[in-house]
Amino acid sequence: MQDKLMLMIPGPTPVPERVLLALAKHPIGHRSSEFSHIFADVTTKLQWLHQTKNDVLILTASGTGAMEAAIINFLSKGDRVLVGENGKFGQRWAEVCEAYGLNTERIQAEWGKPLDPEVFREKLETDKEKSIKAVIITHSETSTGVLNDLETINRHVKAHGEALIIVDAVTSLGATNIPMDEWGIDVIGSGSQKAYMIPPGLGFVAVSEKAWQAYKRADLPRYYLDLGKARKDAHKNTTPFTAAVNMIVALRESLTMMQEEGLANIFARHSRHRSAVRSAVKALGLPLLTSDDCASPAITAVAPVTVEAEKVRSLMKKHFDIALAGGQDHLNGKIFRIGHLGYVSDRDILSAISALEATLQMLGLEIPPGAGVNAAIEAIWGQAHQS
Ligand SMILES: *Cc1c(COP(=O)(O)O)cnc(C)c1O
Repeated sequence: MQDKLMLMIPGPTPVPERVLLALAKHPIGHRSSEFSHIFADVTTKLQWLHQTKNDVLILTASGTGAMEAAIINFLSKGDRVLVGENGKFGQRWAEVCEAYGLNTERIQAEWGKPLDPEVFREKLETDKEKSIKAVIITHSETSTGVLNDLETINRHVKAHGEALIIVDAVTSLGATNIPMDEWGIDVIGSGSQKAYMIPPGLGFVAVSEKAWQAYKRADLPRYYLDLGKARKDAHKNTTPFTAAVNMIVALRESLTMMQEEGLANIFARHSRHRSAVRSAVKALGLPLLTSDDCASPAITAVAPVTVEAEKVRSLMKKHFDIALAGGQDHLNGKIFRIGHLGYVSDRDILSAISALEATLQMLGLEIPPGAGVNAAIEAIWGQAHQS
């Protein structure tokens, strides 16, 4: 059926009608006072979302552009950095670092398992000459659905005192609590097509005072992604280059919606959907790739053995117009991933789970009727009831 596609992938995520209508407006001049006014409003709202008084800068770039900016503005050639790598996006961090000639140490964990904070602690504690300049991690590893323990790793970084903590929060910001100022996170990168509920095209980088000190010393080449330029202009409510004006108008709308819902409610909704999807998948007899204690609030990876992951995905698309994500690299064909990030309601979860249940039946799996849907209802209703 036309226009019934349901995106259950971890970005792009569904966009609310209110935001689509905001996008439909004529572009306005990026040097106009009208735009400056919108830009100032958006900046304040971004600080609210990041729970910070720090600068939150807007780039016309995908999330990877924000990640690259997060590296090149604060580090210098040959700097020693620890990079957490337990999936595709951790790997990307390491690749960005290596592309710029950093002395990159990959702290690895098996894909589907969380990073071990103890490994970071050990490396940081034994670094008496303070040669580690940054610890760089992916908070929610989208490729596997693992939520890494940012709070604990960050505590070890704070004990070190010298290193910056640089975080890819692309699928965790706006889905789970990341109090930037309270925890003292130095750099947070994110992207518009995830929890922000707007299309792809904007990247965001939030920067602590300590990171700005490092900016002064950093010697990696930078131009378009120079955050110092972005900051200088942002303080005058403008941007160094033509801003993606329509996207920023849309962003104001989506951030307003987020403020109306409230951070606590947004986090509770994501947490509820994580539980609902996970208990439904278990009730359907399918193995989950990750364990409950490190599950991302944004995405759930399922590793079926009795049915083919790609078959599930294609039937879900064909019969129900529900787009799920596949596996990346060596997980390609081995897993499918259900996104539950951003503009997702309880109804969306129930629809997706019942469609999944029907799909598994089509594939000949014998499951107790309604097992998945019942488990999802229980998880949603149980938690909704408490609140
Ligand atoms: C989506 C995503 C990104 C950004 O990817 P782009 O395609 O460049 O927008 C980065 N990190 C994580 C964890 C993501 O999920």
